[in-house]
Amino acid sequence: MIEKYSKVLTKIQEADGIVIGASNGLSISEGIHIFADNSSFREHFGDFREKYSFHSIIQGCFYHYPSQEEKWAFFSRMYDYFLYKTEASPVMKNLYELVKDKNYFVVTSNIDDHFRQAGFPKERLFEVEGNCRNLQCVNGCHNQIYPGDDILSKMAQKQENGEVPPALIPKCSQCDSPMQVHLEVDRHFLKGESWQASYQAYQGFIENVHGKRLVLLELGVGARNQLIKAPFMNLTNREENATYITLNKGRELYIPDVISAKSIGIDGDIAEVLQQLVYMK
Ligand SMILES: [Zn+2]
Repeated sequence: MIEKYSKVLTKIQEADGIVIGASNGLSISEGIHIFADNSSFREHFGDFREKYSFHSIIQGCFYHYPSQEEKWAFFSRMYDYFLYKTEASPVMKNLYELVKDKNYFVVTSNIDDHFRQAGFPKERLFEVEGNCRNLQCVNGCHNQIYPGDDILSKMAQKQENGEVPPALIPKCSQCDSPMQVHLEVDRHFLKGESWQASYQAYQGFIENVHGKRLVLLELGVGARNQLIKAPFMNLTNREENATYITLNKGRELYIPDVISAKSIGIDGDIAEVLQQLVYMK
C-alpha cells in the first residue's frame, strides 16, 4: 500500500499538468451527502422533509415548491449548510496542499463550492453543474450569473415557518421574474459567458498539456459517471504520457482494462488517503 502511495506522489511531483475530477464521493468524505436521508439531513432539513416528504438535499433541489417564499427557504438553507463554516474541511485542505504548487485544473459536478473555500482559484475551476452561491434569472432571459452570497445568507437567517419574507426574494433586473440558484435543475440552466469561460479554460488546459506528463486525479466519481469519468478515461487512453489516479471506495473504484497499465487505483476513505498522501509528501 505504501508503495502505491509513493507512486501516486511521484506521479504528481513529476506531472506537467494535473487535472482533478471530483464528484459526490469527495463531498461524502467531507461529511456532506446530498443523496442521503441521514442524520445530518434530518437535523438541518427536517422541517422540509416533514412538510414536502422529500428525503435528500438533491430531491429538495428538484422539488416544485408551492411558492417562491418556500423555494428560497430551502435554497438559502442549503447555501448556509454548505458554506456556513468559513474554514475549508481537512479533506479539501489536504487536497489543496497536495497540488497547490503544481500546474492544475479542477472539473467538478459538486455544487457546494468547497474548492474555492479551500483556496483553489476560480480561474482553475470548472463547476459543470453550477454552484449553490450564484444566481440566474429563473427564465434564463439573459446570459448573466450573479453572486448571491449576501441575499442567500440573509434569507437563511430571516426565514420563518419555512418561508422567507417576500421582500427578500431576488428579482431579475431584465424581466422582473424571480431569480434562481445557478444549478442544473432544469432546462433554463445558463451556460452563459462565465460557464463557457470555465469550459474553455478546461479545454485549453488539456490542449496545453498534450503530449506532456499528465495526471488525471479522480476523486469520488462513480463508476458509471459520464460527465467526468468517461472523458478522463478517454483522455488517459489517448494521451501517451497520461496517468490515471482514482480514489474511491469498494465497487465504485473502476479502472477499465484498456488503461489499466497507466492507472493507479486506491480503494479507501478519500479523507484518509489524502491525509496519508500529504503526510508522506
Ligand atoms: Zn429575466
